[in-house]
Amino acid sequence: MKRLLLVALVLVTMQLQAQDLAHYKRVVKELSSAKYQGRGYAEDGANKAGRWIAKEFKKAGADAVICQPFKLNINTFPGKMEVEVDGQKLTPGVDFTVREFNPSLKGEFKLYYIDMEHYNSEKLFADLASPEYEGAFVVCDFMFSFKHRADFKRLQSKQECSNAGLIYTWEAPLKFYKAYGETVKEKPILWVRPDFPNDAKRIRVDMENEFLEDYECFNVIAKVEGQKHDSCYLFTAHYDHLGKLGKKTYYPGAHDNASGTATIITMAAHYAQHTPEYDMYFVAFSGEDANLRGSEWYADHPIAPLEQIKYLINIDMVADNNPAQYCEVSNEGMAGFARFEQINAEKGYFKALDRGELAGNSDHYPFALRKVPCIFFMNENGDAFKYYHTVYDTWENSIFSNYEPTFKLIRDFIDQQ
Ligand SMILES: [Zn+2]
Repeated sequence: MKRLLLVALVLVTMQLQAQDLAHYKRVVKELSSAKYQGRGYAEDGANKAGRWIAKEFKKAGADAVICQPFKLNINTFPGKMEVEVDGQKLTPGVDFTVREFNPSLKGEFKLYYIDMEHYNSEKLFADLASPEYEGAFVVCDFMFSFKHRADFKRLQSKQECSNAGLIYTWEAPLKFYKAYGETVKEKPILWVRPDFPNDAKRIRVDMENEFLEDYECFNVIAKVEGQKHDSCYLFTAHYDHLGKLGKKTYYPGAHDNASGTATIITMAAHYAQHTPEYDMYFVAFSGEDANLRGSEWYADHPIAPLEQIKYLINIDMVADNNPAQYCEVSNEGMAGFARFEQINAEKGYFKALDRGELAGNSDHYPFALRKVPCIFFMNENGDAFKYYHTVYDTWENSIFSNYEPTFKLIRDFIDQQ
């Protein structure tokens, strides 16, 4: 009888584990689907995802779910995104990307290639002022902006040079960013693959931007009540991503950061079933890829006072397979980090916890600046990392093997409090 009970218990436990992973996968698949168009601001993608997440937190059994609105200015690309080089069409996201601050531009232009090996600043600007290359698109190597900063700035200014825009050759797969999307610059910059032709003559572009001013988006906050209310834990993950690049292309953002969002949703489900000692808040931020706007807003308008946070755990990109787990820790979080390391050494969830310097690259940062004890988990440099911020960050390319160790490491940390 005892043995039977044991078998039953093992089966139930296995089912619970499997169900967590299934739940996690379901959330990653949903959020990276075409429904949300890359969870950006065009077509209300991020907000649609936010509303779905709020429902999912309720289904998970959270005691309360609220949406915390905030506004941002953001440049978007929901319209035309056509580029043709000597009659050859380029595919958005695959053959080229744009800088987030690009304006609209339509027309056909000559191409002018900068000779990086025998660079001569005077010759460059003399050529671009000549009738032959006036108004041309300038092609250069990615390193140009670092090596020749002042000239790069001149090429970005309408007043200082007549060139229509800039094209950088960069490594593939091409990455798209959003951090400087709160302004629109005078001229567009395109990023192209290293195999971009080095002797093309003409480029035809029809690229449209749409600048959204005071656009309202929101953080989704779920609460699971603990036995004590004088302190709390925060589990955070951003759910926004890069949105669209033209009418057809969107950035699915499965690894970044449907994976972190799915992790905190399944953690909410876990603690809704196992009443924790302290109150727990599960915060899905918007506006992260737009310069941490959502977490900045929350840190300035917290639901529970920041001083009451025992620990904040920020999860951004965990659908990868590096056996070592990268993390960043605030000064105030170092005692907690020692405990994380101890648990990991005992249980062997990861080969190591590789702690890097604090950087302003995810949502823990505004809290670290405000002296909140916090840790940031990101699984980088595995097989999925190369797809980060590219159109290939899809459900199909996600790797799920690190979900369980991440979940268990965090669960043990809370349990051993
Ligand atoms: Zn991210």
